[in-house]
Amino acid sequence: MIEVKHISKVYTTNKGKRVQALDDVSFSVEKGEIFGIIGSSGAGKSTILRCLNMLEKPDEGEVWVAGNALTNMSERQLQNERRHIGMIFQHFNLLASRTIFENVALPLELSQTPKAAIKNRVLELLELVGLSEKATDYPNALSGGQKQRVAIARALATNPSLLLCDEATSALDPATTKSILKLLQTINAQLQITIVLITHEIHVVKSICDRVAIVKDGKIVELGNREQIFGSP
Ligand code: ADP
Ligand code: ADP
Repeated sequence: MIEVKHISKVYTTNKGKRVQALDDVSFSVEKGEIFGIIGSSGAGKSTILRCLNMLEKPDEGEVWVAGNALTNMSERQLQNERRHIGMIFQHFNLLASRTIFENVALPLELSQTPKAAIKNRVLELLELVGLSEKATDYPNALSGGQKQRVAIARALATNPSLLLCDEATSALDPATTKSILKLLQTINAQLQITIVLITHEIHVVKSICDRVAIVKDGKIVELGNREQIFGSP
């Protein structure tokens, strides 16, 4: 599903300082896996995730997703490819001026889906995430966990084969975190969507990830299945 081959990335700060964010990172993710990338702040997790949908281009190396080398694609091809990659964020990134229905509909409107099809799909997605009664509410009327459910519905709208999660539970309390992780597991199992998540919270990777990479100073320092990394349960 994903093959990351020897990617490196150096940022130059506006003061001219060079920061090696990624240094020769390689890993692969199988179709249907939940793959976790864990590390402390500044380790390079977000940079890896942004390289998976080419919001960031590595200086060196290759990123393959579903048989395509994203690192060789034009911006137009990438835009098309990104439709098969959903993403959710720590702070949900919902549009405050749009209802829940309209937030979930947005990616479908952008891909010129006919109106009737949009309505069916959005209502189906809201049902999947358990928010059918909230369709006409605005995001600020929702709890953090409900907002993340909306964001998940929006990320799934275009039927992606891959879902990228950027600290998706870091702003949530433990009980809400648990319910969001359960939803991600359901989505992974029922819709066969591959999930890559980044987090600094060890209990998140321990509870749902099939395999885990530990990132430190821009390098993968450990990689294995849950039992190899954390010992048997
Ligand atoms: P993490 O997600 O693990 O916190 P990041 O991938 O965000 O780590 O960052 C890795 C390193 O790259 C950090 O040292 C960070 O300060 C630096 N970095 C990230 N983005 C930029 C940027 N746009 N400009 C300069 N440095 C950056
Ligand atoms: P009909 O097609 O029967 O006239 P509507 O298009 O008004 O019905 O929508 C029916 C349901 O679809 C609503 O109850 C609501 O849940 C959802 N819906 C459609 N459009 C919106 C919207 N812009 N904002 C929120 N909910 C919507």
